[in-house]
Amino acid sequence: MRTARLLWLSLALPACLAPWQASARAQTTPVADSAAEVRAIMRRADDEVERSPDAALSMLQRALEMAGRLGDAGLRREVLVDACDTRAAFSPAIAVTEADAGLREARKADDGKAVAGFHSCRGYALDRLGRPQEAAAEYEAAVVQAERSENREALADALAMRGENRHYQGRYDEAIADLDRAYATSVELGLVNQQRYVLNAIANVYSDENVGEFDKAIAYYRQLLRQDRAAGARLGEATTRYNIASALESKGEYANALSEYRHALEAYTALGDRSSVAETERAIGALLVRQGKAAEGQPWIERAAATFAAAGDEESVARCRLPRARALRALGRLREARDELEQAERHFRASDNPRYLAKVYAELAEVHAQAGEWRKAYEASVAHRSVQAVLDRRARQEQTSRLRIQFDAAKKEQENRALLIENAHRGEALRTAERVRSLQRIAIMLGAALMLLLGTMALQQVQRGRRLKRLAMTDDLTGLPNRRGVLDALERGLRARQQDGRPLAVVVFDIDHFKRINDLHGHHGGDRVLEDVAALVRAEVPASGSVGRFGGEEFLVVLPGLDHAGALALAERLRVAVSSGVGDGPRVTISLGVASAGDDADAEALLRRADGALYRAKGEGRDRVVSA
Ligand code: GH3
Ligand code: MG
Ligand code: MG
Repeated sequence: MRTARLLWLSLALPACLAPWQASARAQTTPVADSAAEVRAIMRRADDEVERSPDAALSMLQRALEMAGRLGDAGLRREVLVDACDTRAAFSPAIAVTEADAGLREARKADDGKAVAGFHSCRGYALDRLGRPQEAAAEYEAAVVQAERSENREALADALAMRGENRHYQGRYDEAIADLDRAYATSVELGLVNQQRYVLNAIANVYSDENVGEFDKAIAYYRQLLRQDRAAGARLGEATTRYNIASALESKGEYANALSEYRHALEAYTALGDRSSVAETERAIGALLVRQGKAAEGQPWIERAAATFAAAGDEESVARCRLPRARALRALGRLREARDELEQAERHFRASDNPRYLAKVYAELAEVHAQAGEWRKAYEASVAHRSVQAVLDRRARQEQTSRLRIQFDAAKKEQENRALLIENAHRGEALRTAERVRSLQRIAIMLGAALMLLLGTMALQQVQRGRRLKRLAMTDDLTGLPNRRGVLDALERGLRARQQDGRPLAVVVFDIDHFKRINDLHGHHGGDRVLEDVAALVRAEVPASGSVGRFGGEEFLVVLPGLDHAGALALAERLRVAVSSGVGDGPRVTISLGVASAGDDADAEALLRRADGALYRAKGEGRDRVVSA
């Protein structure tokens, strides 16, 4: 229930949105209230929040009234947590008081999930008010509560928030660990919006100057941008464009960055999001100064700082001081530049933020040097080096823990294979065992190689531009769940089906003549087609479903709650969506096989039937849907 955040989390000023609109009450129809209906409204509000936060709030108000009529206090608190999150983005001060009241009630009722939720919300609101340290304490409390009450949804949320907060404070290793867990959990639980939120946060870490994986970050952002557009998430789209601009700036592509910033500014202005407008103005000013246009850039920075100051956002005011000092130095106003930097230093030392302190000291050294104050310049550069050393050490720890996670993932894969054998028929088991043995040999060798690498790295001075490794459940190219991820979703769907008896269907599809596409447009062109198809399909599949990359150019869609006819209709929509145009790339078609779970369905049998149907679709001339 949150909007994706800017790379530089500043965000303080409430945009004036009409809260709890009266019209919402007029829409209330007092028939057939049920918990399921309340949840359905919450889900719709979740989808709505990036298009129109005030509309989302109105929907939640309706849900709140329904839950009240039902006399379901737990459900009411769930709605209140969502409403608190939604409000925190735009009226953080109000959200803090709402969270306080919510916390009191939830504690009294011993509702651990709600306690965690209100802590997260309170933290988020404090972040937006420019109080990251207090926010950190709230996230910590939220994680502890969610773990204690074993609520995975609340845990995924709290971890995502804590991860972002840690990233902001330059704790890369801990940030990555949190975001990884948050992502894996939201994939497992099928929380699509949460996945988008966390994907954005992970891309922000890639895009951090101290991580330096800008191309990778931009690829993630572009993928998010397509999803934002497909979902009509205008605020998300603006934020993603801001983040792309920021990554381009870090790469030194200033002209492209400026044009992206301007697009973001236009969108934020249209949405009336004043704090993001100010943030973007600050960024544009800083970029102009970087390009050597100090006189042109300075007014942008002043405008942004004035907005932040009026909102009492000290953190953002402090962040304006660095580009302002750069502008002043370029204009030869060295004394003023130094004053700005000294104020910034005090602020960031008090909030213990090495990321910004490093930049402040580096600039201070330049100012002193330009003024001929060599001794002070030297002292500033010593201070810069010592802060930078802290950041480098954190970066190294992060790399080591990534490798460890990878090694664990390889081990888990091996265990899964072993489990498979137990379940398989005997004859087949023997053949599988042979394969597993060779796989094990490979895994052991890989493991040994990794250990060796770990050992070597401990001795080496690792460079700053480190390579983050891929997420265990995600396909790198398309950002969709990979084979493991989507099979997981299928297993979960089948288990749920055993309990509640609702239908479940799958669609397997494969891109037609993909080899030809590769031949004609090169492997890179083929990759683009894969990305585009993935984004198109992702946009068509309902939030309750999952879609993953099953292998090369083959995809699997899992559709819990959909019967056979519904799945056939969806498959046809996918076929039409793809064949009527994928981006600006070549014309592409797909063939699809649809199967639904019968009485005894296990994953393997179900996939086999869908695969058979896909095979027939190919045989009958491709670009069609065939039912199993
Ligand atoms: P059909 O209509 O029968 O499916 O024909 P096809 O050419 O799509 O089928 P085939 O399975 O023979 O070829 C699939 C090709 O997809 C072969 C492989 O080189 C290519 N491929 C697999 N993974 C990737 C990938 O990640 N990127 C690119 N560019 N190509 C891939
Ligand atoms: Mg194919
Ligand atoms: Mg194929």
